Amino acid sequence: MFDANPNNLLSTNIASIFLNSLSEIPAKLATIPPFLILVAPRHTRSERSYRYIIPDRQIALDNRIVQLVCLKCQLTNHNPDRANDFYSCDSCFARESPSLITPDTDAKIVCYCSTCLSDLHRDLGKELINHNPRQIPVEKHKLNLFAVLCIEVAHYVAFVKCQKRQDQHEWLFFDSMSDRIHNEKNIPLVDRVPDFEKWIETAGKDKYFFPDLDDLRKQARPSSQKFSENDMRRLRLFRDGAFFFYENSSVNYQ
Ligand SMILES: [Zn+2]
Ligand SMILES: [Zn+2]
Repeated sequence: MFDANPNNLLSTNIASIFLNSLSEIPAKLATIPPFLILVAPRHTRSERSYRYIIPDRQIALDNRIVQLVCLKCQLTNHNPDRANDFYSCDSCFARESPSLITPDTDAKIVCYCSTCLSDLHRDLGKELINHNPRQIPVEKHKLNLFAVLCIEVAHYVAFVKCQKRQDQHEWLFFDSMSDRIHNEKNIPLVDRVPDFEKWIETAGKDKYFFPDLDDLRKQARPSSQKFSENDMRRLRLFRDGAFFFYENSSVNYQ
């Protein structure tokens, strides 16, 4: 991804960077992804183009993100008026392109536009009963955030979503170098972050959230006066987020 932040904004969210990058190239995803890893763009090798990035908890797929191409006539979903006009039909695909059938491939969405599908179905007679065309449900697919990897120089920390009980989850903070013994051994730390989702929500709504974080950074003396644990984690999340991991929540993502 790339987004040079031409307006010199203090913050943005990762989904906007993703959408801006796609329209800039321009490009779309060739398939509905089971996972998506977004990498924060940088000005230089070490500096991100935005000082703060909000990790969206969910990114909903749509026709701006995913490309559909009719297998027969190559019509695409770029025209918004016909964007929802695409269907899959396993029986037609098996008849039309037997050589293309490779199980377990997710490289491309197999679909036909409504015109081509009608043509394919027109003269089938009784056999039509075996055809079950389904509209391609691009917009039903949601990508949910499940981890953020944050990098400050060579110090990596991560926020990771973990399952608690069946429908419940919680966010954990993982730091492989939380402390040092005699300056030679790293002591790792895993801790709960009960406010993780609240931070993200507030960051998106409260216009003072990032200016306040800026103030916090100015006040802190590097060694003598440390940040509180929660302040430090908020800084790590919004200032150092480098890799944002998403998973498709649909059980059968195709
Ligand atoms: Zn077509
Ligand atoms: Zn069919």
